[in-house]
Amino acid sequence: MKKIGVLTSGGDAPGMNAAIRAVVRKAIYHDVEVYGIKYGYQGLIEGNIEKMELGSVGDIIQRGGTKLYSARCEEFKTEKGQQKGIEQLKKHGIDGLVVIGGDGSFRGAEKLTEKGYPCIGVPGTIDNDIPGTDFTIGFDTALNTIIEAIDKIRDTATSHERTYVIEVMGRDAGDLALWAGLADGAETILVPERNEDFEDVVQRLKRGHERGKKHSIIIVAEGVGSGFDFGQRIKEATDLETRVTVLGHTQRGGSPTAADRVLASRLGAKAVDILISGKAGRMVGIQNNKLVDHDIIEVLDQKHSIDMEMYQLSQELSI
Ligand code: ADP
Repeated sequence: MKKIGVLTSGGDAPGMNAAIRAVVRKAIYHDVEVYGIKYGYQGLIEGNIEKMELGSVGDIIQRGGTKLYSARCEEFKTEKGQQKGIEQLKKHGIDGLVVIGGDGSFRGAEKLTEKGYPCIGVPGTIDNDIPGTDFTIGFDTALNTIIEAIDKIRDTATSHERTYVIEVMGRDAGDLALWAGLADGAETILVPERNEDFEDVVQRLKRGHERGKKHSIIIVAEGVGSGFDFGQRIKEATDLETRVTVLGHTQRGGSPTAADRVLASRLGAKAVDILISGKAGRMVGIQNNKLVDHDIIEVLDQKHSIDMEMYQLSQELSI
């Protein structure tokens, strides 16, 4: 393998830049040329490709977002779009590709591998919703952003004796809600993986209030539904003063935490190692703090789930 490409695709995540940096530097370390493809698969189809040097990735390890930009590209889901991408790769003499993104992006990588273009997936999404890895790049940063926000909301919640419903991201996964709830001692955590009985939530709130609790924090994962709708139901059922905050895209930005920078560096470098060793159609991940790689098709066939032991613990600690 003489030339490889790297792109970021789908939702951006803090730490993607650290992963790009690791891919570029590790490839050059192995005397392999690296090409950056801008705007994900859209840029691939359009030939938005340029050679990267050691200096191209200087001063980005600490930055959120992605230097290569990201995009969603419907055309790439079609046979014709994928062929256009392959033509561009051939034109630039690129032998293999590292795709940093979520499961949608991995489907694209799998399609290219099927058509003879070796790809390696690097899990980059704040949602932590990818099987085969304990953590995805961006999760830790988003989690810390949520914690910071909830700590602030807690101050005003106490001052005004309010109930706060906080909607967090995570798509169909409850990881951000669960981890944030545990880290912040939330009274109630609603995740899409579990069907919480509404009456139980109401009773818990009422019990807390009667015990003299000054405020309550309820975290709702976006996969469960609208925080505003839930807040309205709580207000009607309890008569407690209730406010809703949707944290939204603040969760996707910001300087990556040390944990995300280290994870991204390890995963990006591992992706290059296995790509140049001749492997294809793999996703790199981390399990029990060891780097691993799995067949991308197997990863896509599995369903991610939250850690049920952690969920149980969150229930036990919020009685
Ligand atoms: P994420 O990678 O964060 O899950 P998306 O699901 O939006 O984000 O996917 C990102 C991009 O990956 C899509 O815009 C599309 O270009 C490509 N993609 C998604 N699904 C497929 C598919 N089935 N086949 C080919 N490409 C796909």
